[in-house]
Amino acid sequence: MHQEENKYLSKRYHYEVATSSGLKKNLLYYSDQKLAIGQLVRVPLRSSQTNAVILKKNSNFKNNFPLRKILSVYKHLPCLSTERIHWLTWLSNYYQHPLGEVIHLSYPSFITKITAKTWNKKLQIPDNPSTQNTTHKLLKLTSEQKSCIQKICKLAHNKFQVHFIYGVTGSGKTEVFFRLIESAIQKKQTALILVPEISLTPQHIERFSIRFPGQVACLHSGMTAKQKATEWAHIIQRTKTILIGPRSALFCPIPNLAWIILDEEHEPHFKQEEKLKYHARDAAIMLGKKLNIPTVLASATPSMESWQNIQTGKYSCYQLTNRVFKTVPPKIELIDMRKKVNSPNKNLPWWLSPVLFTALKKTLQKKEQAALFINRRGEASCVLCPQCGFHFNCSNCDIALTQHQSHHLVCHYCNWREEKPDKCPQCEWSSLSTIGLGTAIIEKEILKLFPSAKLIRADRDEIQNHKDWTECIRKIENKEIDIVVGTQMIAKGLDFPHLSLVGVILADQDLRRPDFRSSERSFQLMIQMAGRAGRRSQTGRVILQSYYPDHPVLQSLIKGNYEQFAEQELAHRKQYHYPPYVKLILVRVQGKSENHTLEATLRIKDRIQRIKELNLLGPARPIIFRLRNKYRYHLLLKSKSLSILQQASQQIQAISTQLPSSVQIHINQDPAYIT
Ligand code: ADP
Ligand code: ZN
Repeated sequence: MHQEENKYLSKRYHYEVATSSGLKKNLLYYSDQKLAIGQLVRVPLRSSQTNAVILKKNSNFKNNFPLRKILSVYKHLPCLSTERIHWLTWLSNYYQHPLGEVIHLSYPSFITKITAKTWNKKLQIPDNPSTQNTTHKLLKLTSEQKSCIQKICKLAHNKFQVHFIYGVTGSGKTEVFFRLIESAIQKKQTALILVPEISLTPQHIERFSIRFPGQVACLHSGMTAKQKATEWAHIIQRTKTILIGPRSALFCPIPNLAWIILDEEHEPHFKQEEKLKYHARDAAIMLGKKLNIPTVLASATPSMESWQNIQTGKYSCYQLTNRVFKTVPPKIELIDMRKKVNSPNKNLPWWLSPVLFTALKKTLQKKEQAALFINRRGEASCVLCPQCGFHFNCSNCDIALTQHQSHHLVCHYCNWREEKPDKCPQCEWSSLSTIGLGTAIIEKEILKLFPSAKLIRADRDEIQNHKDWTECIRKIENKEIDIVVGTQMIAKGLDFPHLSLVGVILADQDLRRPDFRSSERSFQLMIQMAGRAGRRSQTGRVILQSYYPDHPVLQSLIKGNYEQFAEQELAHRKQYHYPPYVKLILVRVQGKSENHTLEATLRIKDRIQRIKELNLLGPARPIIFRLRNKYRYHLLLKSKSLSILQQASQQIQAISTQLPSSVQIHINQDPAYIT
């Protein structure tokens, strides 16, 4: 009897699993069968069930503890590799998010509905299109493209290295990706391409699909859960070998991956600011490292973080300086809007210069298209003097102050406050302007000036889904539109052949955003906007209207000199202790009661303020102080040492259990925005 029981017990295998339920701890279950690490299973949890992934075998388990049994195994689904589990564990630790939730991002939400039968039968495409003869003409590479590809391939050899393609728009970066991918596919390998916002770049996806017919799987927010699961299955079963997607595509456990390519590397969209607050660029590089494969980043305007890594030689950089079509880059003109105050033109609204007005008129006469950009995201306005361009800066942080309740000026970093004066401190002009202008106002006033022009507005209010967006693009492409009035939505990667004039209404609006990245973002965005004009034959014209034309960012911009800008910007970051010279954690404390929230923030501050080599700013009110009925306070933690920051964030987590449950704490490592 005793022996029987032993025999029975010896058939049990014990496993530590990560459940999808968001528990911080891994749980222990048993199974009668031997299971593989990385296998997806179903387990009982409290009175219900949940999915879980096997993390490791537990051999020294003591038998006297009652364990529950693993209910079923998704045998048809592949196991996550140990390298992938290491990567997911790194994400969980670095971004302080429960491992179970991180691991389960590897599976589409619809996955449990795909049965083994469907998986094995319906999803398989017997006739693999890659074997079909495709007849597209291969372009003859430019010498820059050729040299870039040769160097990357020489260094790559299926080992980890970050390659940075630094190339102006139109220099043929995408063609370089094509060649790299092509070589992988020939070796029966796969490739992952990450783009910032896939729904904004339908033209881009189309190019990949034309080049690699039948091979491209795509994931975007316009798809249903079922469609996403189907694409996922194609990739896992290798009926498709190229995956294009936004940051979340990183989590798809693509087999046999040869390249990770991340286009428009500088885009803030790569950072997720909720739940798992990961940066897809950094996560992609870490995945490349764990899988030991090359990772390719590309941009015309690299992020300061990458720029520094290029300078120090951490990344290998390849420069593409020439446009393939040798079109003249559009001429960028800077208009000094201060002059307009003293010579007002009664027929024109305050935000429109006579130069831009005349340029619009000419463009319409020539039956070409114009785009007017304004980047309005509905936040508090900034204050400036319309006569001399003076604006209010914080003396501690060198960041623009934001107006609150018509007479306070506040710094969103350190909470410095001052009264708004009646007159400009520099030239004594008596009516300071608060800037707050949006696409809707511009649309209305442009229609008054050009009643017969056909206008379209492209912003988040007008365009809410993939369908609206493709329709908008189609109308512009088909020349059904004369003037586009839009936000940065229309700045990204679109190619409109008839667009010859770009007007940036308030070129310095973003420069005054109280964020240490505002200069970088403005520069990148304006280069992108300028890049929309004159992409084919006609010469493009770009008009930037500014109240601060001497701003070093705008001055570098009209010279089209990114290197100069980056050098200045890095010096600035170094002086004021911002990334890439320090690491940041943004702690957001929020709650329904303003007092409780502030008290909790102060308790957190008190707990960590004696940590050495930690620089602490705040509590400060973010731009949006009250959101969805909750008050928010920020603490900004700066340190040169990642381990100091992590020590601080562990202490914050420890204290958070002692705070009132009505107060929530969000810890954001490497935040994309700090306001
Ligand atoms: P980027 O991604 O750098 O902005 P693209 O890859 O989109 O540039 O290239 C711009 C245009 O040039 C595209 O229409 C592309 O098809 C074309 N192109 C790229 N490389 C070549 C080449 N070697 N010969 C001819 N045309 C090319
Ligand atoms: Zn003034």
